[in-house]
Amino acid sequence: MIDKKNFYINGKWVKPAKPNDYNVVNPSNEEVFAVISLGSKDDTDSAVKSAKRAFDQWKETLVDERINFLEKLLKVYKKRFNEIAEAMSMEMGSPIDYATMVHAASGQAHLEDFILRLKNFKFGEDFNSKSNNYIAREPIGVCGLITPWNWPINQIALKVIPAFATGCTMILKPSEIAPISAMLFAEMIDEAGFPPGVFNLVNGDGAGVGTDISGHPDIDMISFTGSTRAGKLITKNAADTIKRVCLELGGKGGNIVFADSYPNAVRDGIRNVMSNSGQSCDAPTRMLVEKSIYERAIKEAADEANKIKVDLASKKGDHIGPVVSKIQYDKIINLIKDGISEGATLAAGGPDRPKGLNKGYFIKPTIFTDVTNNMQIAKKEIFGPVLSIIPFETEEEAIKITNDTEYGLGNYLQTEDKEKAKRVAKKLRSGCVYINGNAPDSGTPFGGYRQSGNGREGGAWGLEEYLEVKTITGWK
Ligand code: NAD
Repeated sequence: MIDKKNFYINGKWVKPAKPNDYNVVNPSNEEVFAVISLGSKDDTDSAVKSAKRAFDQWKETLVDERINFLEKLLKVYKKRFNEIAEAMSMEMGSPIDYATMVHAASGQAHLEDFILRLKNFKFGEDFNSKSNNYIAREPIGVCGLITPWNWPINQIALKVIPAFATGCTMILKPSEIAPISAMLFAEMIDEAGFPPGVFNLVNGDGAGVGTDISGHPDIDMISFTGSTRAGKLITKNAADTIKRVCLELGGKGGNIVFADSYPNAVRDGIRNVMSNSGQSCDAPTRMLVEKSIYERAIKEAADEANKIKVDLASKKGDHIGPVVSKIQYDKIINLIKDGISEGATLAAGGPDRPKGLNKGYFIKPTIFTDVTNNMQIAKKEIFGPVLSIIPFETEEEAIKITNDTEYGLGNYLQTEDKEKAKRVAKKLRSGCVYINGNAPDSGTPFGGYRQSGNGREGGAWGLEEYLEVKTITGWK
């Protein structure tokens, strides 16, 4: 049993103010494999105090000093890379190869990219060559960072690294469901030798430590990634202290497959949704298919879904693992049942367990066809390996259906017609539009429109979130 009951506060591993054990479950076998503590207000207060104290000096560090610390962290991260991958595989059920090559790799990529951005970032500049005004960018202060379980290290890296880079201090509350990779990351930060108090970690749940953080008067900014539901509660609770609240929330991405799309577009769309067991905020879970290729697309989609293997996270190879928890499992299975009773056609998968997997939160890759955009399965973020196929006839209709959602995170479109692709991409109301399966470059911004959030993470945009902007006159 892994014991990770302590918190990291002021450069030391400390016992929680009050013992409150919490079991971490491996979703592949439903067994407890680690114990953490859920913190209390006293733990949060002590972490915030330490971050506030450390801010006075950390904000004065030179960019080169901060780059130096981040480079040390990168070295430690590379050394302990496999440990991080194994932790994520156990805590959230990611197959070990995926946990290594995608999840753990994302942490390293963000570290490398932010170091590069920091080297080229302007923390101050003349307003223009004739003006005697100067525009300074200064760290916002103490940051409360709250992260989800579905991309544990990716989300932590997107917050902790820019906070370090900009001269902020912080308290991290990772997801209580997948906290072990976060604890390892804290150990790495300790090993890299950051000054005490710059980084603090307190485990807890949303109602406890999460709420204490969002309402805390000495926290200047919240960066939150998680559900839209929690994003709303955080925003309300943060209002009294007028702190900056940066939100990265849920999604219900559309993937418009035009008749002139490249040959593998449907199959790629299925693989994209099912990867990470469908637990990605920008998964294109509504596939919109042009009527003239609808029948062919359904066959390909079902065939591709049936080819995807479901298996234990500990096994090597190209398969999907379980979903993260019993709560998520029940929610997803109920939504699949809703889809059937709403009249959608089940083309692959369904609510029964995959063969041979009688333990663990495993769900078959599931495809619904003949879905209309007002069905629950087209509206709700299911957050499991479930995809809905919706037919359309015209470009305008496809755009209208894609935008007809409360979310606006990632949308996708497939066509060989470059002009049409650009035209449609501009009309989609989301923070990201991916054309023909092209991946975003490292350092591009990521974030949502509407109820998918208001923040932008990654690259220079990700640094700016942690900065205040100051105008100084009479500078020259
Ligand atoms: P969640 O909202 O349940 O929890 C996320 C984090 O917030 C956890 O640490 C949790 O303890 C905490 N939390 C919960 N309620 C809180 C409250 N009232 N106050 C403060 N903190 C609270 O989300 P989850 O189930 O862990 O993650 C899945 C969600 O995250 C999905 O909706 C997904 O789309 C979203 N997500 C978004 C992005 C993005 O970049 N937009 C990335 C990954 C995940």
